[in-house]
Amino acid sequence: MLGQMMQLPLLISSLIVHAERHHGEQLVVSRRVEGDIHRISYRELAARARRVANALQTLGVAPGQRAATLAWNTHRHMELYYGVSGSARVLHTVNPRLHPDQIVYIADHAEDQVMFFDMTFWPLIQAVAGRTKTVKHWVAMTSRAHMPPAEQAAKVPGLLCYEELLEQASDAYAWPVFDENTASSLCYTSGTTGNPKGVLYSHRSTVLHTMAAALPDCLGCGAADAILPVVPMFHVNSWGIVYLAPMTGAKLVLPGPGLDGKSLYELFETERVTISAGVPTVWQGLLAHVEANQLKFSTMRKSAIGGSACPPAMIRKFRDAYGVHVIHAWGMTEMSPIGTAAAFKGQHAELDDEGRLAVMSTQGRAIYGVDMKIVAEDGAELPWDGVASGDLLVRGPWIIDTYFKGEGGDPKVADADGNRWFPTGDVARITPEGYMVITDRSKDVIKSGGEWIGSIDLENIAMAHPAVAMAACIAAHHPKWDERPLLVVMKKPGMEVTRDELIAFYEGKIAKWWTPDDVVFVDAIPLGATGKMQKNKLREQFKAHKLPTA
Ligand code: ADP
Repeated sequence: MLGQMMQLPLLISSLIVHAERHHGEQLVVSRRVEGDIHRISYRELAARARRVANALQTLGVAPGQRAATLAWNTHRHMELYYGVSGSARVLHTVNPRLHPDQIVYIADHAEDQVMFFDMTFWPLIQAVAGRTKTVKHWVAMTSRAHMPPAEQAAKVPGLLCYEELLEQASDAYAWPVFDENTASSLCYTSGTTGNPKGVLYSHRSTVLHTMAAALPDCLGCGAADAILPVVPMFHVNSWGIVYLAPMTGAKLVLPGPGLDGKSLYELFETERVTISAGVPTVWQGLLAHVEANQLKFSTMRKSAIGGSACPPAMIRKFRDAYGVHVIHAWGMTEMSPIGTAAAFKGQHAELDDEGRLAVMSTQGRAIYGVDMKIVAEDGAELPWDGVASGDLLVRGPWIIDTYFKGEGGDPKVADADGNRWFPTGDVARITPEGYMVITDRSKDVIKSGGEWIGSIDLENIAMAHPAVAMAACIAAHHPKWDERPLLVVMKKPGMEVTRDELIAFYEGKIAKWWTPDDVVFVDAIPLGATGKMQKNKLREQFKAHKLPTA
């Protein structure tokens, strides 16, 4: 017997329609590329998104075709999020930090019909415009006054002005109703090795993920909040915040290109931001600015940190020095992206500060909708005892089934019951209370005498040293143990620390045999397009490093 409830598909347009009707006056505030601070209400933004839908029709972009963006977090990018997906086209957010060759590759692979870009990326557009196969229009997301000079513009055929395009389009448009499994947006994984692969989200997966992300134990956002995603809209849809704000009626504050500590802090304060989200490297810049200028956060109460492991020292500093609660979260492009978040359970109220910090430092519990397990090399499930570690597998309605255009075949693995799971490529342990701890990415694992050493634990300890700005732990060749940990350290400006001091710093904090065999100092640790340490580059750089223990 079927239930007798309404069948309304879960569509992305319903989010902006809801915000327009129920939070019409609520604001979206953007620091724009032009340098101004711009304010628009959800009501006005919804009307501009409808103009985008009409403009796409005029440009000849058919439903199902891809419209790409190379853009910062601003209201214009958000208008495209709704105008493109809401009208059944597919929004392809391109990471501007990728190499131009990679951008050409993914624009061709996605068969992008139009590319919307912020003027910051005009040099990049000039470099790629003549090389892509399918892009017919290049739309500068600015007004006529800020368009490139005529002699440069002539070099990019099909160049258009976003504000003009919107002016010429009507705001009368009825959002179409279609199957909720229709594709809505496309993101490519950063692909540290090989070509990037496309992850194609649906309306259904996006709306379900947004609901789960808004829950109290995840981002926990409501209409009285002001939320600022530092995480870019070109990095897994800003972890869903661009959908979550209209869903909850929260004020949305968008930092544009201003991702330095000073610019971010200014926005946090003037817009009375209560919740934010970003990768650890960005928070380092913000904390350095706040510390150096002896500032405080007057409204910030929560910051979600993920994308790579958040060092416990950072969680502690946020809590003890600034009264900001850190939600450590884990996920990946293939998971829309959120899988787990480290929120307390009732019994943790009795823990002391150190005990609570230990819970907050894990990657967290699975949020509803995501199931996870750890397995041994033979696929057998491992116990949740906080000790056994193995490959982390996940399944759920916002987790990838196959990559775009079937690339790489079926990535999933089947278990004994025939259920199919997605292997995350991460290695983890899970505590009896269900908190997951990432010990490594499988390709970064250090295998010493056949036993795994968790490089993230070793990095977290180094990061707690006052002179260390950033630390990466990689495998170095050892004649007896095969691999041993080598710590690569970037010092804080003006601070000193020696190899021996750092090695001594591990004493009592970790099993003795896990202690790094050597420390090397570098001026900078290479970061990838999403702000993560590129350990493969470091392994290459130090592949001939001779350990003193060898
Ligand atoms: P890419 O895989 O292209 O670098 P993603 O943003 O999808 O881009 O990265 C997902 C990976 O980032 C995860 O598989 C995991 O290794 C790492 N990661 C994400 N969040 C955390 C976290 N909180 N702690 C440790 N690692 C994390």
